[in-house]
Parts: sequence; structure tokens; C-alpha cells
Amino acid sequence: MHELPVIEEILAVVLTHAHRHGVSRVVTINLEVGSFSDLEDAWLQRYFDHCSRGSVAENARLELIRVPATGTCRRCNHVFTLAAPGTDKTGCPLCGAVDIVLDGRRGYHIASLEAL
Ligand SMILES: [Zn+2]
Repeated sequence: MHELPVIEEILAVVLTHAHRHGVSRVVTINLEVGSFSDLEDAWLQRYFDHCSRGSVAENARLELIRVPATGTCRRCNHVFTLAAPGTDKTGCPLCGAVDIVLDGRRGYHIASLEAL
């Protein structure tokens, strides 16, 4: 269960933003999640409901947007979409180098917030 620390982190960011902008209620949280992320939508929402209770983000809906992961070849700078997890290990489709930098989209980040 690695969803819980993720949710705590997301909630902390959301509450910081909400506080800074004088938000009374957070309605929707648009969350970009890397296509290889194994975060489970249902669990995310469940943990979120639990953790956000009593805060301005209570009852907010998590909207997950799956984005494709990409890699950049360190040898030829070719940027390509990773078709499946582990593709970075098979090397650059252009030059064959296995020195690939992942763009970090295996994780997640908050794309936007809808609030009142
Ligand atoms: Zn390359």
C-alpha cells in the first residue's frame, strides 16, 4: 500500500494552495499520473476521503489523467514514448544506446485544482 504517503503528500500541497488562495472548498483535483504508475484510482480516492476529512478538501473528487511516459536518449537526445515498463532497458530506438533518462512520469503531479 503505497497510496497513503502519496495521498498525504497530495493533500499537503492541495491544502497549502487552498490556504494561500483563501479557498473555502476544494471541488476537484486533477492529477496527472504516469501511464506506468500502479497507483489504483479507487484506493487513491478512498484514502483521500479518509485523510481530507474535516479539511477544506473534504469530499473533493480526484480526477486521474493518465499521461504517457517518455524517455530521452543521453547519447543522441532522441525523445520517445515508452511503450511499456522496462522499455528504457531495451535502449534508444534510434541509436540503440541504453543510456535513457526517464521523464519522471512514472509518478504523479497535481495538474490543477478546482475550488470555491
Ligand atoms: Zn539514441
